[in-house]
Order: sequence, then structure tokens, then C-alpha cells
Amino acid sequence: MHELTLTQSLVDRVADATAGRRVSAVHVRVGLLSGVVPEAMEFCFDVVTSGGPLDGAALLVERVPGRISCRTCGAESATEDLLLVCGCGSADVAIVAGQELTLTRVELVRETSCA
Ligand SMILES: [Zn+2]
Repeated sequence: MHELTLTQSLVDRVADATAGRRVSAVHVRVGLLSGVVPEAMEFCFDVVTSGGPLDGAALLVERVPGRISCRTCGAESATEDLLLVCGCGSADVAIVAGQELTLTRVELVRETSCA
């Protein structure tokens, strides 16, 4: 399950960047052709953050649909399937979008201060 390793390094990165401030939410963009299962990542996030500096934070995954471009007929089409085949039957396709795994935003809890 590589989502666990991936989520662990994401959480480490966010914890480093926020340096002890409380995080309420972490936004990521996950391409549906990246091989990462968003649901698995959400599950791992709860496990990984439990008891750590990001405890209680939410992981918000934006799913990016896949797009392929066919080298045989030139058509571009959307796909959610990891088996990439164009409508014309050709498997000679290039991935245009859907392989990303990007951290897009970190929301911090607003600390109330008496100053
Ligand atoms: Zn084609």
C-alpha cells in the first residue's frame, strides 16, 4: 500500500512547513491516473496524523480526471481507467493529465491571541 508512505511524507512536509502551528485542513490534487487511490489516502491520513502535530486536520482531495491523447488518430479523450485505450482501439496514447499528486493548500487554525 504505497498510499501510506506517500501520505506519511506529505504529512511530514506539512508538519515541517507549519512548524507547530495547528493545521485544520490539507488540500491535495490527485490525478486519477496517478495510481493513488484517494479513499486510501484519506484513510491513511487519519492514521498517520493521529497523535501527531496534524492530529484533527482534514485531508481534502480534489480528484483530477485523466486525459489521454491518441498518437494513432489524434483524438483527445477523458478516461478514469488505468488501461489506456483510445476509442479507435489504439493503445498508443500519451497521458495529458491525471498523473499529478500536488499539495495545493494548507489551512491553519486561527489562534486566538490576547495581545
Ligand atoms: Zn485513437
